[in-house]
Amino acid sequence: MTDPAAALAQMLGPKGWLSGEEAEPYRQDWLKRYGIAPLGVARPITTAQVAEIVTLCCDAGMNVVPQGGNTGLCGGAVVERAGGIILSLSRMAAIGEPDAASGSVVVEAGVILSALHDALAPHGLVFPMHLGAEGSARIGGLIGTNAGGSHALRHGMMQDLVLGLEVVLPDGSIWNGLRAVQKDNAGYQLRKLFCGAEGTLGIVTRAVLKLSPAPRQRATALLTLGDSAAAVAFGTYLRGEAGEFLSGLEFFCDFGLSLALKHLPGLSFPLESRGDVHLLVELTSNSTRVPLDEILASALEWGMERGLIMDGALAMSDAQRAHFWRLREEQPEGQRLEGEQLKHDISVPVGRIAEFIDKGQALCQGILSGVRINPFGHLGDGNIHYNLSPPAGRADFDGKAPEIAQALAALATDMNGSFAAEHGLGRAKIALADRNRSPVERDLMARLKHALDPLGMMNPGVIVCESLGKKNFP
Ligand code: FAD
Repeated sequence: MTDPAAALAQMLGPKGWLSGEEAEPYRQDWLKRYGIAPLGVARPITTAQVAEIVTLCCDAGMNVVPQGGNTGLCGGAVVERAGGIILSLSRMAAIGEPDAASGSVVVEAGVILSALHDALAPHGLVFPMHLGAEGSARIGGLIGTNAGGSHALRHGMMQDLVLGLEVVLPDGSIWNGLRAVQKDNAGYQLRKLFCGAEGTLGIVTRAVLKLSPAPRQRATALLTLGDSAAAVAFGTYLRGEAGEFLSGLEFFCDFGLSLALKHLPGLSFPLESRGDVHLLVELTSNSTRVPLDEILASALEWGMERGLIMDGALAMSDAQRAHFWRLREEQPEGQRLEGEQLKHDISVPVGRIAEFIDKGQALCQGILSGVRINPFGHLGDGNIHYNLSPPAGRADFDGKAPEIAQALAALATDMNGSFAAEHGLGRAKIALADRNRSPVERDLMARLKHALDPLGMMNPGVIVCESLGKKNFP
């Protein structure tokens, strides 16, 4: 039998098959916690090639790990079982002509999110997905993780923005579900099954994405407030006042702000006072007739009169608006530059955010006294990135990371929330899922995996552990 790696090299040519040193940049995950050297990196340019690669690998018993921009935070886009290959979609990056009438565009899975934003700008259309990693994250990875981001409050998560999909299944067949309609109830919602499947059920090769008209005006404000309860109270009021115009309601805490200001040159905080919590709020509209500035200014007045808002500023230019957003988007980077950290991607009902932050604080301090907590994220979705830095002067968490992660996951679960709000499970959170979700739910996922990928060749060890995925189901 021909060596499968040699067969892939021959099929894909020198640009399409990387091995040895050339494969090194694809080896480790973004947080540098997972990844072994892959047998090689396949870089196909057509869906047919993807199907050939999957067939060849599955026949040869080689596991396949799809990789987009490799910015995932749960270790799902790298090889962990020996003899696996990475399937990089980076050379499949074509963007079709946008269809303004139906508000859609067909793209290949390797398109970088910010490149899609740029390509749509001249057409007066937007793809309303925004996140800190948008300069690297690719459409296939965003679908694979069912990404959320800072506009999910108004436009939903990736599953709400995908109208159709093309997927190469583990047996090498190609499912063409590239329909461009919102309404398609012809059976199970297959496209949604692949949103958040993290490459365990097939390789997304193309997608039909839902577009919106580009906003013609924006009103953006940066606020400082006494605590997270005040932020939630103001957010709730603003939601009632601004309705569908509210497109961003993001928060970060003062500890996170101080890390960003310490580590990132060019950042400054423009307000005179500094409370414990800061809010970034944004209203957008496609009509120039909606008085966004007035709606926002009157809501701020309401918040100040009630002592919820300590200080605030409206963005007076695009540059100032960009700076406000940078203060929020640089939260992960500021903490990364501070050193070792633990990331927890929590969601709870919005009205219980303050309760989670307070109870989480008590739990974490009880496990490791002095641990520094940096909650920030998408307030409007109840999504808290509850990230920790070690106690001042210490480099690590004294081996307490799993205990802290489980305590926070159990707390979120008890509050009808999630320990995996928008980043997925990957490899990092399988143990948490096994402990905090019912056996029925875990078994259902293992059955789905087994039904589509009975040999367990697609990204093994992600979402369900390998032994569960290969269990002999009746
Ligand atoms: P990768 O990391 O390459 O892959 C992610 C998963 O998808 C893996 O399991 C992979 O195997 C699978 N996959 C990749 N391509 C395909 C494909 N073609 N078909 C099937 N499966 C595939 N996430 C949010 O949701 N919201 C945020 O606000 C947010 N902010 C972030 C900020 C920073 C600074 C960073 C570093 C990350 C952030 N993330 C956020 C996480 C990350 O950016 C998202 O998870 C993103 O969707 C990953 O895209 P990617 O192309 O990098 O995917």
